Amino acid sequence: MNGTHCLICGGIRQDPLTVRTLLLAGTDPGFCKNCRRKLAPIDLDDCCASCGRDLRLIDKSFVSGSVCSDCRNWAKSGRNGLFGRNRSLFTYNEWMKEIITMFKFRGDALLAEGFRTEFRSVYRKLKGSGWENLRDWLKTGERRAAGVKYIIVPIPLSKERLQERGFNQAVLLAELLGEPLTHALVRPGSERKQSKKNRRERLMIRKNPFLFNEEAAGSISGHKVLLIDDIYTTGATLRFAAGALEAAGPQRIDSLTLAHG
Ligand SMILES: [Zn+2]
Ligand SMILES: [Zn+2]
Repeated sequence: MNGTHCLICGGIRQDPLTVRTLLLAGTDPGFCKNCRRKLAPIDLDDCCASCGRDLRLIDKSFVSGSVCSDCRNWAKSGRNGLFGRNRSLFTYNEWMKEIITMFKFRGDALLAEGFRTEFRSVYRKLKGSGWENLRDWLKTGERRAAGVKYIIVPIPLSKERLQERGFNQAVLLAELLGEPLTHALVRPGSERKQSKKNRRERLMIRKNPFLFNEEAAGSISGHKVLLIDDIYTTGATLRFAAGALEAAGPQRIDSLTLAHG
């Protein structure tokens, strides 16, 4: 299949003719208009300042000062630790659920490529090196420090799961950023039981499934870390991952996921 076919449905993409599509024709993997239309992109200017959920989709009574009630509960729980903020590209709607199922369970690794441009653009914004910073600079004349340097850490799978699936979807997403990855976490157990549990049960689990990989200590200490995963669900997984990294002394820990839901 070449670049003019949709990575999801295999149909012809028929991208609008722009200089970019003309130059990249046949080389830039992506999705057709129909598949893209069903995605629900999150407006980064109208998302929860903490977990990055789309605030347009929840009742205003659950929002105070641009932070959602889930995140206020996290703050109260005392389990936030060094976890700063999460940003996600899309809301986890039925369509995104299908895409992630294809991506994860059918081993359709190439799918991740279709999100490259957006993934990088949210990353740049999170780092503070996006075009918005340039715009603010032009507007206010105030130049912020050049973008944050993040150490990129993908959320690991257990050995067993990795063998079964053949790839780690978080690593594939992290690779889209074109930066070196630091494998600072290991997951000794099995995730199988976890995925069968419901939201409430998952929140109740107190045991951290991650361990810090001592070999990465030098690269984490004093740095800002960006965790990469496919979905932010309750936020528990990412906070556990952040918790496991804390002993290495990072400055703060943020995360970037494909979906939020
Ligand atoms: Zn399609
Ligand atoms: Zn939130």
